[in-house]
Amino acid sequence: MKILVINSGSSSLKFQLFAVPDLSVIASGLVEEIGEKQGAAQITAFVSDHGENTLKRNEQVSDHRQAIELMSQLLRESGVLAGSSQLAAIGHRVVHGGEEFYEPVRIDKAVIDAIERLVPLAPLHNPANLTGIRVAMEHVPDIPQVAVFDTAFHQTMPEHSYMYALPHELYDTMYVRRYGFHGTSHGYVAARAAEHLGRHIEELKIITLHLGNGASAAAISGGRSVDTSMGFTPLEGLIMGTRSGDFDPAILFYLGRERGMDMDALDRMVNKDSGLKGICGENDMRTITEAAARGDKLAGLALDMFCYRIKKYIGAYMAVLGTVDCIVFTGGIGENSAVVREKACEGLAGLGVCLDAAKNSRSGKKGIMEIHADGSTTRILVVPTDEELEIARQTMAVCGLG
Ligand code: ADP
Repeated sequence: MKILVINSGSSSLKFQLFAVPDLSVIASGLVEEIGEKQGAAQITAFVSDHGENTLKRNEQVSDHRQAIELMSQLLRESGVLAGSSQLAAIGHRVVHGGEEFYEPVRIDKAVIDAIERLVPLAPLHNPANLTGIRVAMEHVPDIPQVAVFDTAFHQTMPEHSYMYALPHELYDTMYVRRYGFHGTSHGYVAARAAEHLGRHIEELKIITLHLGNGASAAAISGGRSVDTSMGFTPLEGLIMGTRSGDFDPAILFYLGRERGMDMDALDRMVNKDSGLKGICGENDMRTITEAAARGDKLAGLALDMFCYRIKKYIGAYMAVLGTVDCIVFTGGIGENSAVVREKACEGLAGLGVCLDAAKNSRSGKKGIMEIHADGSTTRILVVPTDEELEIARQTMAVCGLG
């Protein structure tokens, strides 16, 4: 039997097919530009004896229903899924689970209604996730389907960490509080780090740094998130590709009054035109690192600011946790950028965090990498994240498979 994991975004549908119970990847694919004039779809099937086999399509995909049909076609034609009877379950990524979902759940009408109620908290993401769920439920009504929430892992944060110092009434009536995101990734890499260290996660204090286009840090005590840098939305915290992270919100009032910028313009500015892109005009860390090495001043500033913000969160979370057994770098930047890791840990030897430059600069290594120096009190690891695998694992657990 097999598990299908679906990540349904507003204009794309990513999917991966796993074998049950070992959860090896059988195929992964993507339908892009849903609703656009041009569409593109691709599936790469990993057929154990014959290597990889990639099927590509360029056709217009008008909506998610068609995207799911195209996905089924590609799964069939690549020979990895003859029919839905081979499916044990489907796992869906859902961005916002509010306070209602602190663990993955089997999807039924009540769950769909609850995700729908949470749309105002994640207006860009939950509707697209819901569309994927609805279409998949119609397509294969007899297959168990599970929702895995990005926010769920952080539902263990204590009140003093998730509340904002705003009028309390906003929490009661408008659900304004910190939720945190990337939870599936933070939980997954923390568990892999504990396994790697040969320790029970219950006895460890870990700081996880998920650094991709979106970036967030989490303080994890005994396997439970006690703080995280993203808040009510994924805007708060670290500097990201195009998002500002922390800044003084009074700047928005200033720009509103002095420049006449309206809400939409301000929203666009902080989410799409800020962060690394806002500082130096570029949001890809590879390009920024290369430009900084060539002496480009703004690229250098972007890199310095990005790493300085991470270092501040490491310091803050060391204070939150008291002691830290392990710091984990993950995400496209965390897994690949030795420069970012080095600069983020620079000057932390006094706190027991010592990076080994040689171990850190070994590149191209797959799997978990240890990059701390011998005398470092805190272990420093690079742990590749795998959110789809974690969704498959949680789906399997909810459905009692394997
Ligand atoms: P997303 O949040 O979209 O999933 P990823 O986790 O894939 O993003 O991370 C994308 C980021 O990772 C980009 O900024 C990219 O430049 C960066 N990245 C990928 N490979 C490298 C590398 N070798 N060195 C530095 N940055 C890298």
